[in-house]
Amino acid sequence: MNPFRYLRTDEPAAAIRQVAGDPRAEFLAGGTSLLDLMKLGVETPATLVDINSLPMSRIEVKGRGVRIGALVTNSDLAYHEVVRRRYPVLSQAILSGASPQLRNMATVAGNLMQRTRCTYFRDGMSPCNKRAPGTGCAALDGFNRSHAVLGTSEHCIASNPSDLCVALAILDAVVHVAGKNGDRTIPFNDFHPLPGETPERETVLEHGELITAVELPSAPHAARSHYLKVQDRASYDFALASAAVALDVKGGVIRTARIALGGVATKPWRAFAAEQTLVGAKPGESAYTAAAREALKDARGRPFNAFKIELARRIIVRALTTVGGLS
Ligand code: SF4
Repeated sequence: MNPFRYLRTDEPAAAIRQVAGDPRAEFLAGGTSLLDLMKLGVETPATLVDINSLPMSRIEVKGRGVRIGALVTNSDLAYHEVVRRRYPVLSQAILSGASPQLRNMATVAGNLMQRTRCTYFRDGMSPCNKRAPGTGCAALDGFNRSHAVLGTSEHCIASNPSDLCVALAILDAVVHVAGKNGDRTIPFNDFHPLPGETPERETVLEHGELITAVELPSAPHAARSHYLKVQDRASYDFALASAAVALDVKGGVIRTARIALGGVATKPWRAFAAEQTLVGAKPGESAYTAAAREALKDARGRPFNAFKIELARRIIVRALTTVGGLS
């Protein structure tokens, strides 16, 4: 392992200053992803700034919404009584991922920063535009079973591994950020850019910007929401494909619909056009099937991952059936 400096602070401004002033410094929170990558030699920070003492570990109920501190652990969030009641999809998504031990350490902000599980990225040797820009992408013609079918580019087809983020995508979440130039907010669906020609850029954060909280607005449709995930290993695993869905049905007609996909796209994938096909329709298999078809319309499969397209369609129909029933 590379030698690195370890610093600790309980002041947000000091943490930001320490990371912003050193291009090879990184924030350390739960460490469940970063320390793995350091052991593999994929991440080689010169300085780690431990932020676990910063005052960002509270879940605050604000009116009909919730503000989640960046350092809230996945376990605390998943089992929070108001979160379970108002945003069941979020609790289900968290509990579908990782092990209890990992969920006790992993933080909400860390989940937003989670890096891909692409094996070529993690082996530290293969051509990989994300790890070493300009070297190529070994997954394009390699074993790409876990890779994305939506949002890909000729430079990268890595899937985003987060479950929690798929739920956030349908909850109109807002990410609060602090940096050396002040605070700003980022709509969650703008937080992860598509890989395009710069797959090494995985978020819109500038170096040294710190996530301070994630805010969930009031979302009446979220009370009728669900997360469905299919994975290889039953105990715990990353998604082959998953869907977060929510429906608001009044008078036998769908008024609001939300669909997001995980495991099949290069970012937590909100299926906006598919949602629109549901608005005004009666809940039922034909409406769900049409939405699923629309959601995967632009999918591009490769030799080992083309099965995900039909799998994701079926997951959408099943998840929508769970929340909307069959008429
Ligand atoms: Fe690297 Fe992306 Fe290609 Fe994987 S898919 S090897 S992360 S460029």
